[in-house]
Amino acid sequence: MEAFFTRQGEKAFRASQLLKWIHQLGVTDYDAMTNLGKGLRAHLSEHTCIGLPRIMHAQHSNDGTRKWLLRLPDGNSVETVFIPEAERGTLCISSQVGCSLNCSFCSTARQGYNRNLSAGEIISQLWIANREMSAFGQEQRVVTNVVLMGMGEPLLNFDNVVRALRLMMEDHAYGLSKRRITLSTAGLVPGIDRLREECDVSLAVSLHAPDDELRDRLVPLNKKYPIRELMAACKRYVAGQPRRRITFEYVMLAGVNDSPRHAYQLLRLLERVPSKVNLIPFNGFAGAPYETSNTSAIDVFRDILIAGGIMTVTRKTRGDDIDAACGQLVGRFRDRTRRSIRMQEMVRDPRP
Ligand code: SAH
Repeated sequence: MEAFFTRQGEKAFRASQLLKWIHQLGVTDYDAMTNLGKGLRAHLSEHTCIGLPRIMHAQHSNDGTRKWLLRLPDGNSVETVFIPEAERGTLCISSQVGCSLNCSFCSTARQGYNRNLSAGEIISQLWIANREMSAFGQEQRVVTNVVLMGMGEPLLNFDNVVRALRLMMEDHAYGLSKRRITLSTAGLVPGIDRLREECDVSLAVSLHAPDDELRDRLVPLNKKYPIRELMAACKRYVAGQPRRRITFEYVMLAGVNDSPRHAYQLLRLLERVPSKVNLIPFNGFAGAPYETSNTSAIDVFRDILIAGGIMTVTRKTRGDDIDAACGQLVGRFRDRTRRSIRMQEMVRDPRP
């Protein structure tokens, strides 16, 4: 943006002024940006535009969680979820329309992959949440944390995701520290290494299984980047930074990955990686081939990890009354692959 302004013969600091108008004050009308000269405003109006997705549907959960279905200019749409807690407000944002990774327990996988979101479409989710909650121009932040845990695999949309992350961290925009931004990945090893070099926000890894045989079935990406390579990349990510940890996400699937034997295996796996574990009760959706583990199985699993010295929490399921919980985000999209129809047919007639 600085380069853009200097090309116009303007001072570079116009860039930070414009960022502040848009991202701190929520202003999208150039004419209201009074500290930019009249000529410059006219030039901006003529040559650039500030575009926003439209809210197609907004939902409020009984627990305060809010979900927005955003329509993009090409007719696709994605979902964004705000989760309020006592001490913080977390926004869960999407990075792709659909997802190509096909994890067997995730409803986003059912719609297949459609396309990457642009950096603008990613950051506009934060912008819209701020507007909807009247947070612009306020002293107190409403969105204090951002997690890239919505639809899509963020490391498969690396460049646009990093551009958006930089805006989140930029003082003249949202000013979030990298510790308050968490990128969650299904385990794309080269992407983890690149992220470490270019924008080392907090990292969460969707592990879900302690051995390759099982993980191949749950997270097919594991066939390309098996657990050993993934754990080595995690170690590199936090190397030399004594206080940093990787968060491992582990979805609890009844009778599949939730036995004490799995917990002990997981402990051994995490021995040499500074880690914490988030256990996620499986959130069901129509046609899902799994059930969530019961509370006592989850507690036993958690206690084994804690006794082994791993900080472990069971993630509270928030917003499931509005299908806003982990793995339930679907949006609406143009189905180029027709995968959802094939899936529905399979559920009705499961023969191969
Ligand atoms: N592709 C990234 C970002 C998605 S994050 C990743 O895989 O990490 C969404 C998180 O919710 C991931 O940990 C994912 O494995 C988990 N998840 C997906 N479907 C779920 C479901 N039905 N119930 C609970 N968690 C689920």
